[in-house]
Amino acid sequence: MQNKLSPRCPTLLVLLLFWIFGTSSTQMAEASTFVGNGGSLLDSDLRRTLETIKRAVQASLKSSAPCVCTVASEQCQLLETLNEAQDNYCHAMVQKVGRPLLSLLAEKSQLRFVWTDETLTDRKGKRSFDAIAQPKDKQILIDTERFAKVSEAARVQLISHELLHMVVIEGSNMSDDGPHGPFSGDDGGRQLLDTLGAVYASLAIDQGILSRKVSSLSHPARSFYLFGGGGSGQIETALARSLLLGREETVNVFGGQWFVEPGSRWGLGLTHRQQRINETSVFTRSFQRSSWDVSAIYRLRPLDVESEFWSRLQWQFQGGVSHSWIRYSMKDSYQELVSETKAIGILAESRILLPLTYNFWVYMSSAAELAPFRLKEFEIASKTWHTQTIFGAAYAFSF
Ligand SMILES: [Zn+2]
Repeated sequence: MQNKLSPRCPTLLVLLLFWIFGTSSTQMAEASTFVGNGGSLLDSDLRRTLETIKRAVQASLKSSAPCVCTVASEQCQLLETLNEAQDNYCHAMVQKVGRPLLSLLAEKSQLRFVWTDETLTDRKGKRSFDAIAQPKDKQILIDTERFAKVSEAARVQLISHELLHMVVIEGSNMSDDGPHGPFSGDDGGRQLLDTLGAVYASLAIDQGILSRKVSSLSHPARSFYLFGGGGSGQIETALARSLLLGREETVNVFGGQWFVEPGSRWGLGLTHRQQRINETSVFTRSFQRSSWDVSAIYRLRPLDVESEFWSRLQWQFQGGVSHSWIRYSMKDSYQELVSETKAIGILAESRILLPLTYNFWVYMSSAAELAPFRLKEFEIASKTWHTQTIFGAAYAFSF
């Protein structure tokens, strides 16, 4: 009895998780301020970045020398190039923009963040950007691929820069163009905003808001996944009885997934499955299925929590069509009876991926497949759903 029940439990568990996560993430999506291409897998990273900026701005208002570099980082290198006049000006600006930035961050609902996979350029198309602020529309466009690739400190610098464009100083929004105090030249404004962004990133590291180490924990926002794994499946009782076999089959899978861009929620998957049950007593019975399936995938990060590990947990749901080859044989020392057939089916799969490091993942999945077939020679037919539980590993990458 227990043997029959156990492989079904993970299926139920996954369905339950699906329901809980699905409900809570819908609520989160409704509460979120992000408007993008149907929501991005990077939304929770952006929320993290905004929270980090808020805490860094608070720290900057208390700091006596915010523009002086205290810890080694990519952003600190920029601060080290400041001359004395620029350092003083930077300090004064930090005091000036702090409060407006905090009130901007407190009323996030007035801001829109839009993910885009188009290359962002200036009006002349001369220069490309990782993000662009549109103060009139209270909107910030972010290049999904760039955001996915850079470190958390670089994200803080980038988004701070864009948020500063929303800040009004002496009647106008801060601009990239023209000189700004000792930040001279046509590019002075941009240099100042980059510098202020570097101040917040450095302070975040200095204050322990961001880790000093760049995280090597696998990030879910990637375009391609390769995976392989194994587990067990259950065929229907009536079929098992006709085949003179037990219900449990061993399953091996491998496959790949493709998402249009690293932050996309929707993707396509291709999976190969090999299933078999063999038993020998008096004579040998062997039941084998080999299939390919193509599926549409929807993925999300259900846990919007502070823990870096749990916030990266990824949940995928996929549904698609399968094509399988089925072979059944009965053999003793004298002869072998074989029957082969093909089947077209549908399947649904739910998968939870846990991050390891360097883009490796472990996963658990539960699948159900309906692919009716008939083995003419033996008068055996399959009519109902078969289930599978798989444990495996995956590697994710983007170009
Ligand atoms: Zn700018």
